[in-house]
Amino acid sequence: MKSLPYFCRGEVIRGFGRGSKELGIPTANFPDTVVDNLPTDISTGIYYGWACVGNGDVYKMVMSIGWNPYYKNTKKSMETHVIHKFKEDFYGEILSVVMVGYIRPERSFDSLEALIAAINSDIGEAKGKLELPEHRKLKDDNFFTSMASSSSVLPTTTSPSTSQTIMNGH
Ligand code: ADP
Ligand code: MG
Repeated sequence: MKSLPYFCRGEVIRGFGRGSKELGIPTANFPDTVVDNLPTDISTGIYYGWACVGNGDVYKMVMSIGWNPYYKNTKKSMETHVIHKFKEDFYGEILSVVMVGYIRPERSFDSLEALIAAINSDIGEAKGKLELPEHRKLKDDNFFTSMASSSSVLPTTTSPSTSQTIMNGH
């Protein structure tokens, strides 16, 4: 996928209330504006990369892009599970991510247990791959510090052309 690594950021919105958190794997959802800006060569499936909430620390993440077959969803979504235990929810905050690599396509599971096992295996793969030096260095990219220096970065209120600049602001 030629668009990887892909940098984007946006406000964390409420998801579908499917109870990902109850499964122990909360996923922060991006608004449609971010989803609609995805380059066409980024297919649905599971990705790994780096993420940070607001001006916070940069953590490893896994992201699901797709139609969520397990839940027979009709809506495309971009859902990020940050591999870190947060004290509080962060709805309304700006989530910045870089998608670094692709893990697998989306698929259906026969049981909740099988789904959870697959996600935990994805998390393991993400943790390992992100230790590779060429992936590790993206953690320190200026993209993640640009939030701290610019309080005017509010993609949800900017015009499409500006938001495109911010999305690929790199
Ligand atoms: P929703 O359906 O609203 O997305 P989830 O059960 O998937 O609900 O929970 C997602 C929310 O949990 C995120 O929007 C965020 O505020 C919070 N959250 C707490 N810890 C994490 C984490 N490690 N990764 C992603 N989201 C988290
Ligand atoms: Mg979610």
